[in-house]
Amino acid sequence: THFGFESIAESLKESKVGAVFSSVASSYDTMNDLMSLGIHRLWKDHFVRSLNPGSHTPGAPQTGWKILDIAGGTGDIAFRILDHATNINHDPNTHVTISDINPEMLAEGRKRAALSHYNGTGRLDFVEANAENLHMIPDNSMDLYTVSFGIRNFTHKDIALKEAFRVLKPGGVFACLEFSKVNNPVFDFVYKRWSFAAIPLIGQVVAGDRDSYQYLVESIERFPSQTEWRDMIKEAGFVVPGGENGQGWEDLTNGIAAIHKGVKP
Ligand code: SAM
Repeated sequence: THFGFESIAESLKESKVGAVFSSVASSYDTMNDLMSLGIHRLWKDHFVRSLNPGSHTPGAPQTGWKILDIAGGTGDIAFRILDHATNINHDPNTHVTISDINPEMLAEGRKRAALSHYNGTGRLDFVEANAENLHMIPDNSMDLYTVSFGIRNFTHKDIALKEAFRVLKPGGVFACLEFSKVNNPVFDFVYKRWSFAAIPLIGQVVAGDRDSYQYLVESIERFPSQTEWRDMIKEAGFVVPGGENGQGWEDLTNGIAAIHKGVKP
């Protein structure tokens, strides 16, 4: 890069993301409910149900899935995965590693784990790591890689995708739940009003932190469209199944969020 400017900008971005999530860690769950009017819970439930973790071929040994929940934060996806595997698929073996770059978000996750019925079961563990460098996770070791509302914060999404590809077993699934582009102009107008005006204000009033929530809204705006993101997943080597619309993703609530999946051949 010219005179290293790009890398200075990048490291500034990383420290900014770090500061945002440190400042929101303790209010994170309440803020999610307020900002999305509780809808994020439905999206997350649907995301996990669509992955059907812990399922297995009838008659085959029930060995459980090995799952890596990247940018797992306070464990929203990980707990849902374990609940689904246990309650729906009667699978007591599925294991989730929650990984996040931010120690304060992980600390909130650990607190929740200690209070949950998974405490002491060995089915959850925590790793502090940047999604762009998962050297502590061996090649071809995971059945499923999940990332929910995390990837738009990554500096190099292409490198994170390569790491996802590396750690997954052949046949393993990359699954991403992320804010996306609204596919209906009228709804988009209302949604933009909500996100640009209300979310920073709620951030200011409830969490005493307007800037972090302003950053969150801007990061949603900058994230690639459904098509661009699908193409990046393909570029990393994944086979992209049709999704709901046959185009390779599933829109949730008119595209406010979308689910993208890729299979490692
Ligand atoms: N997955 C959780 C959920 O769905 O509620 C948490 C999402 S939270 C909006 C985004 C998380 O991404 C934060 O916990 C943040 O620390 C993490 N994060 C940001 N950049 C990261 C990176 N480069 N590597 C790993 N985690 C990162």
